[in-house]
Amino acid sequence: MKKLEELVRPNIWNLAPYSSARNEYSGHAAHVFLDANESPYNKPYNRYPDPLQTELKAKLAKIKGVPAEQIFLGNGSDEAIDLCYRIFCRPGKDNVVAIEPTYGMYKVCADINEVEYRPVLLDDSYQMKAGKLLQACNERTKLIWICSPNNPTGNNIDRNEVAKVLGAFGGIVVIDEAYSDFSSQKTFRSEIALYPNIIVLNTMSKAWANAAIRLGMAFAGKEIIDLFNKVKYPYNVNLLTQEHAIEALDERIDVEKWVTTLLLERGRLMKSFLDLPICKAVYPSDANFFLAKMTDAQAIYNYLVESGIIVRNRTKVALCKDCLRITVGNKAENNELLSVLRQY
Ligand SMILES: *Cc1c(COP(=O)(O)O)cnc(C)c1O
Repeated sequence: MKKLEELVRPNIWNLAPYSSARNEYSGHAAHVFLDANESPYNKPYNRYPDPLQTELKAKLAKIKGVPAEQIFLGNGSDEAIDLCYRIFCRPGKDNVVAIEPTYGMYKVCADINEVEYRPVLLDDSYQMKAGKLLQACNERTKLIWICSPNNPTGNNIDRNEVAKVLGAFGGIVVIDEAYSDFSSQKTFRSEIALYPNIIVLNTMSKAWANAAIRLGMAFAGKEIIDLFNKVKYPYNVNLLTQEHAIEALDERIDVEKWVTTLLLERGRLMKSFLDLPICKAVYPSDANFFLAKMTDAQAIYNYLVESGIIVRNRTKVALCKDCLRITVGNKAENNELLSVLRQY
C-alpha cells in the first residue's frame, strides 16, 4: 500500500476539523452544561448527541469483533460510501474501479464528487478476476469497490480473488459486506488487521431489519477511521438512532432467527421460481434476495405492479437482461408473489 498521506486528498490531510462543544469537553464529571447553546428544557432531546457514539460502538465492537476505535458510524452505509470519495478522491483528477454490475450508489457518489468511475465487467457466473480489476487501475486510482455478496447478482465474490486485489493494489479496497449475515463465507471484516488498505462496510438495514433508523458502519485501521471522523458532520448519527440501535443490538437472537427463516424461504422461493414456465433461470444467492431470469422481465414487472407487488427490474443492468431481483419476504408475501406469478 502507498503511504496514507499519498492517498488522501491534501485538503483533507491538512484539515483542521470542526471542534464541537461536546468534543472539547471531556474529563471531569460535569452536571451543568452551558457550553453548546442548547435549551435546558425538553430532556433528553435538548442535548446534542455523542458525536463519536461511544456507547453504541462499545456494543458493536463486541458483536463485530472490531475495536471501537476502528469503527465509523454513519447515516446509512451511503454516508460511508460518500465519505470514501470525499476523503480520497480529488474531483476531476482521481478515479475509482468497481466490479460491474454492482450497487448503484458507488457510481452515483462518484458522479456527485466528479470522480471518474471505471466499471469492470464480471464474467458470466458473476465472478471477478483480480488481474482484470488491477489492469483497469492507473496511478490515479484511489479506490476499488467490491461488493460481496454482490448486489444485484446475490453471489459471494471469490474470496481468493478479493485477497489478491487487497495484496496487489496500492490504494484503498472497499469491501461492502452489507449482506454478509446471510452468507456462511468468512468475512473480510474479521480480517481487517491483515490488510492496511481495507475498508469494510456493514449496515443495520438488511439482516438487522432496521433500514428506517439509518445506521451504517465502516471498519478499517484507526488512521483511516480517524479521517472519517474528521470529515463527517459532527452529529451525523442522531440520538434516536443511537438509542434504538443499542436496543436492537440486545435482540440479536431475533436477528439469528430471522436470518434462518429467510434462508429457508429463499430456498423455497428459488425452487418454486424454477418451476414457473416464465422463469428461465435463477442465480445462486448468498443474500436475502436472488436474481431470476424471466421470459420478459418488463412485462412481468408491470403485471406484478398491477397486483400491488413490487420487485426490482434489473433488465437494463449489465449482464442482467430480463432479470428481476426478488427480495425474500415473509411466508405470506412469498406465497402471494408465487400465486400471482402462476396466474401470469
Ligand atoms: C442495501 C445496501 C446497503 C445499505 O445501505 P444503507 O445506506 O446502510 O441502508 C449498502 N450496500 C449495499 C450493497 C446494499 O445493497
